[in-house]
Amino acid sequence: MTQPIQLDIAIVGGGVSGCYSAWRLQQDRGHNSNIALFEYSNRIGGRLYSRKLPGLPNVVAELGGMRYIPGSHLMVKNLVEALKLPTKEFPMGSLLPIEPGGKAAGADNNLFYLRGQYFRYRDFAEHPDRIPYNLNWSERGYGPENMQVKVMNLICPGFADMSLQQQMQVKVFGKEIWRYGFWDLLYKVLSNEGYQFMKDAGGYEANVANANAVTQLPATEYKDDTVFLTLKDGFQSLPLTLAQQFADMPGQLAPSERIGMNQRLTEIRYNTDSDYRYSLIFQATETNSAGKTTDKVDCEPVEVLAKQIILGMPRRALELIASPFFDDPWLKQNLKSVLIQSAFKMFLAYEKPWWRSLGLVAGRSVTDLPIRQTYYMGTECEQPGGESTLHSLLMASYNDIGTVPFWKGLEAGKAFTGYVPQSLSCAPEQVVLKHEFQITEDMVATAHQQVTTLHNQQQLPPPYSAVYQEWGDDPYGGGWHEWKANYRLDQIMYRMRHPVADQEIYIVGEAYSYEQGWVEGALNTAESMLEQFFGLCKPAWLLQDPVFAKILQDNPDYNFLPTACPAPDLHSSSNSCVCGDCSEVLNEVTEFAYEGINNVER
Ligand SMILES: Cc1cc2nc3c(=O)[nH]c(=O)nc-3n(C[C@H](O)[C@H](O)[C@H](O)COP(=O)(O)OP(=O)(O)OC[C@H]3O[C@@H](n4cnc5c(N)ncnc54)[C@H](O)[C@@H]3O)c2cc1C
Repeated sequence: MTQPIQLDIAIVGGGVSGCYSAWRLQQDRGHNSNIALFEYSNRIGGRLYSRKLPGLPNVVAELGGMRYIPGSHLMVKNLVEALKLPTKEFPMGSLLPIEPGGKAAGADNNLFYLRGQYFRYRDFAEHPDRIPYNLNWSERGYGPENMQVKVMNLICPGFADMSLQQQMQVKVFGKEIWRYGFWDLLYKVLSNEGYQFMKDAGGYEANVANANAVTQLPATEYKDDTVFLTLKDGFQSLPLTLAQQFADMPGQLAPSERIGMNQRLTEIRYNTDSDYRYSLIFQATETNSAGKTTDKVDCEPVEVLAKQIILGMPRRALELIASPFFDDPWLKQNLKSVLIQSAFKMFLAYEKPWWRSLGLVAGRSVTDLPIRQTYYMGTECEQPGGESTLHSLLMASYNDIGTVPFWKGLEAGKAFTGYVPQSLSCAPEQVVLKHEFQITEDMVATAHQQVTTLHNQQQLPPPYSAVYQEWGDDPYGGGWHEWKANYRLDQIMYRMRHPVADQEIYIVGEAYSYEQGWVEGALNTAESMLEQFFGLCKPAWLLQDPVFAKILQDNPDYNFLPTACPAPDLHSSSNSCVCGDCSEVLNEVTEFAYEGINNVER
């Protein structure tokens, strides 16, 4: 019988948090420690999954995460720069000028089709009468995110500028905001039409889901005027580069033994009689040509011994692992502190960007049809180094929670085969990607028809290729997570990194982070855990960022999570509001109100 592999650190999960942890630890102690990374599928990247459709070698179909905010996602921004990964803009509207020599059209002309009415982004402010919601008099004159700001100004002026610690203390209508579901809280201050408007026009149902109000209330980063960047070769190139460098670095363990693909961790056992405290039991998996991963039959589980374990995976994946570790009462209670939200993306490839004739170049259109959000991802010939064709990619649908079942209902049936455009040389059977989720004719026809309606067209040329991804299957359970109401998320996100004091098992990733739904959250929990429990120093590539340097100057103990560790108990005599310069905050609130009033009564 072969001896189990012996590791100092076993990292499980080949998503961005696991790959980052492996990369950092190998740099720090790979010379004298055996560190290995294990991944369930045959793919590094997890919820970063970048695919390319035929005829579009320079326009990436991002089936998971697609963009970051360089102004606030400091870990992603600086890591991407340190790794020298090429970036490109991810505009939320047209970068072309409306008039020759004028300013860029931007997001103002982005299209909305709600309740059977067409209007543009600018109409929220310029023509509130065109917005087909029976809003209260005081609710008019704002777009969905600004309506959220207005609600925040009503509930607690200056809330977005407070620290999480301060926000946790704010009481409204007799109880702390963190004890509210966001929907429950909105219900107290908005008409039902106002809520429906925010839900429909915001594009993401997750933005107004009944998750913890303390994180939901100040979150407006999905606005059409946010500045985003994306990676030229796809967001997946971030974890792929980290994993590659992890494997290539010099170190004690042979490079070929550092990454174990197609290994599903099924169980963690405690060993009391060995230097290696843990036995990790792995079931070999296999991934078929379409990308579907299942357990390999007739394959004995393999044991790996480790002194320390890092689990870089989401809630559902953690729940699938058998171990006394998960019997810990605190962990049992708090693993369920986050909601798992479903998410779905569908891409259609067209021979030509027909949307350009409608003045739509980039950014998104929003509708209450089940496709919900359509993004104009680009045309091949306009990409740096792109081929000279007009092949274009549309993210025809980006939807979540309530609309995902609509598309799941169309999954069974005849597979979509597409067609080969004259401008493309490829075998007919290759024009539609082999993919874990094989797209059906019904799905494509239904989405294409909704896209046609969204753009107010009679008929549009059909797509030649298509692909979709739904994130509900194991081991993910959903696309992203949101803190549940009534949980002390400020304390949980700290403790979750090292949930059981006498065990050396650590949990990182997006699920229990402060920036849920973002890669930034996954990296922040990983870096925070590595510094606090593995003694790593802050990375040089981050320290040289002036914004980060300022954060450190203001708070030398900053550890990538929003409050000091351990988070203090809340005092029962909570302030209703804590603001720095209160009169300035009040002036801002009033100015913001005037903006809405002027929009309606101009
Ligand atoms: C549709 C969608 C859109 C998004 N958009 C954005 C965006 O625009 N910008 C952004 O920054 N973020 C976005 N995100 C979020 C971002 O993708 C995630 O925050 C991030 O990728 C999560 O990384 P992670 O390491 O925490 O987990 P994951 O990426 O989920 O990685 C977990 C890994 O663990 C593996 N695993 C699970 N169980 C086991 C097991 N038992 N044994 C071995 N391996 C296992 C999985 O196969 C997976 O590879 C989006 C996500 C989705 C789904």
